[in-house]
This record gives sequence, C-alpha cells and structure tokens, in this order.
Amino acid sequence: MFFSDVIGQNAIKKSLIQEINNNRMAHAQLFCGKEGVGKMALALAYARYLLCTNKGEKDACGVCPSCVKFSKLIHPDLHFIFPVFKKKSKETLSSDCLEEWRKMLLHSTYFNNATWLKEIGAENQQLRIYTKESDIIAQKLSYVASQGGYKIAIIWLPEKMMTECANKLLKLLEEPPQKTIFLLVSENPGLLLPTIISRTQRIEIPAIENEAISTELINRFALPPKEATHIAHNANGNFIKAVEAVQVSEETLYYFELFVELMRMSYLRKLKEMHAWSFKLAGVGRERQKAFLEYAQQMIRENFVYNFHQEEMNYLTAREKEFSTRFSPFINEKNVVDIMTELSEAQQHIEQNVNPKMVFFDFSMKMIMLLKR
Ligand SMILES: [Zn+2]
Repeated sequence: MFFSDVIGQNAIKKSLIQEINNNRMAHAQLFCGKEGVGKMALALAYARYLLCTNKGEKDACGVCPSCVKFSKLIHPDLHFIFPVFKKKSKETLSSDCLEEWRKMLLHSTYFNNATWLKEIGAENQQLRIYTKESDIIAQKLSYVASQGGYKIAIIWLPEKMMTECANKLLKLLEEPPQKTIFLLVSENPGLLLPTIISRTQRIEIPAIENEAISTELINRFALPPKEATHIAHNANGNFIKAVEAVQVSEETLYYFELFVELMRMSYLRKLKEMHAWSFKLAGVGRERQKAFLEYAQQMIRENFVYNFHQEEMNYLTAREKEFSTRFSPFINEKNVVDIMTELSEAQQHIEQNVNPKMVFFDFSMKMIMLLKR
C-alpha cells in the first residue's frame, strides 16, 4: 500500500506526508472514520513511507530493502495488533492469526469486521484484543529498531481491547519506547478510554469523494462511467459498500445472461441447448437458482409493462432495456399470467428439493409454447 493506492483523501495524504517530511510525527495517532473510507490504507501508506530508506517527495520508493519487506508485510519493525476470537482453552493472540491477517491485507486494505471474521472462519464470533497482547507488544517495542529507524505498531480496532489491555496500552503511550509510532485505526473512538484518546493526535478521515470512488471503479472493474457514478453516489463514501454493489450487479448480469439465453433457445426450439442450459443452472446451488427465478419473474413483469411505454414505471438497466425493445412484444396479456405461475411453481419445486435439472428443463419446454401465444 502506497499513498498513490489510497482512494481519494488527497488533503489527508498531503498533511501526513508533510508531517513525515518535516519530522514532526506525533508518537501516537488515532485514525478514525466510518467503515470503508480507507483508514487502514492510509495508516499502511504512512508506515511504509516512514520506514522507506529512499523515499521520494510524495511516496515510498517501492524498491529499497525496507519497501521490499513491507510489500510482503514482513518488515521487522512493523507490528500489528488486531482483534481475534477466543479459541477454546487459551487466549488467542494476533500472532496466532498473522498469516490470515497478512493474506487479507495483501488482498485489499479496504475491509471490515465481516471480511476479517470470514478470513479466520469465525463468523458470528466476538472479536477481542486480549490482555496478554499489551505485554507482548511492550516487549517487542523495547528492542532497538532493526534498521535503526522507527518502530511502528498498527492497532486495528483498539476499541475492542479488554480493559486491562487498554490500561497497559495507556502506560505505553504515556512512556513510549524510543523512536516508536503507534497508529490506532478506530471505527468507534467513543468506546476508547478518554485517557488513551488524550494521548493521541486524532485524524478524522472523512467519506471518500464520489468522484474518486467512481474513477477507481472504472479502473478496477472496467465499469461504464454512468454505472460507476451511480454506484459511487449510493456508496456514500464507503469503498467497501461500492465494491459490494459492483459484485451484486455482476451477479445480476449473470442472471440476465441466463435469462436471455433461455428465451432465445425456447423461441428457436433448441432442445439440446435447453438441456445443457438446465444442467448448467442445476450446478450453481439452490440459493442462486432461487435468485435467478426471482430475477426471471421481475424481467417478465418489466417486459410486460414495457409494452405500455410508461417510462416512469420502468426499472430496467440500459442493458436490459436494449434486450427488452426486441423481447417485450413476446410478453403479452395472453401469456404473462401463465409464465409467472410457471416461474413461481418452479421456485416452489426448488424449495422442495425437486431435482433442479428437471425443474429447469421442464420450465424451458413450457416456455416454447408460452412464447408462441
Ligand atoms: Zn523504499
């Protein structure tokens, strides 16, 4: 993670860079802000820049020995503390989950509680930073930095510290080891001890600008600009939410393609292809089969309405609309009710665990007749 990888947040980046270049770093800093605004991304970019031994004016070099280690998150002077869940008998520590932690961060620095829980296979578990953690970090930070520079401790969600742990951290902040920087990355600073807050320099990270999110979506997912703007607007400055929306719309696109395929084959009476289509859909899992049938009902409804040329009642995306200009005449008062009934029956059969290959093949054959009405 470099400053150049951080999405938007130019004002904050600038002041963080300046702080380092003027050698005026606060020894404890509290990065706070809502989910998905890039708190961890900024903390990591800051840490990398500080540790880089050949830094440029605005970013780390990426090639010095320090940067090379940082790229794998194995820099000896970079320490992490983050919440984990309690395994049966003993208190779990960050170091027990370090491999998963690195893997998640190397994949993306925009993540939330749910991402982390999933990574460690602990959905529905309580995340905590246990007491022993403070002793261990105190010990690690008591050594001189291996490269003669700074030691950095990044603490993700310090609000999840057990009380005793927080008290020990406070002592560390009050009498910090030499050349040590603490970066606290918090989503809910209101839960921190006021004494900890008063020892830190607070940096409020605002929502990411819409424009920065939309540019990132275009670059990363090759989204059409109009769709990227739309998603960025709904994401409210939360990049995690924006990515989720892209994934949902990718899933919808998949259903759209399945739907178009089925209608085309049924119209052309391509039995063999219909058979293959049913097999394909039978393999995607029950939840997605149900979601597809839900989507198909919505498409039939929308196409029926499309015939009335009432723009304000139309909720189709640009891609769906293009298809509907040709397809909608096939959905009319003679068949719309029966198609909807068939779809909801198919849905029931899937719920009741009827063989999905049969359910979908059966439905596609009925479409042959229904489309001709
Ligand atoms: Zn470097």
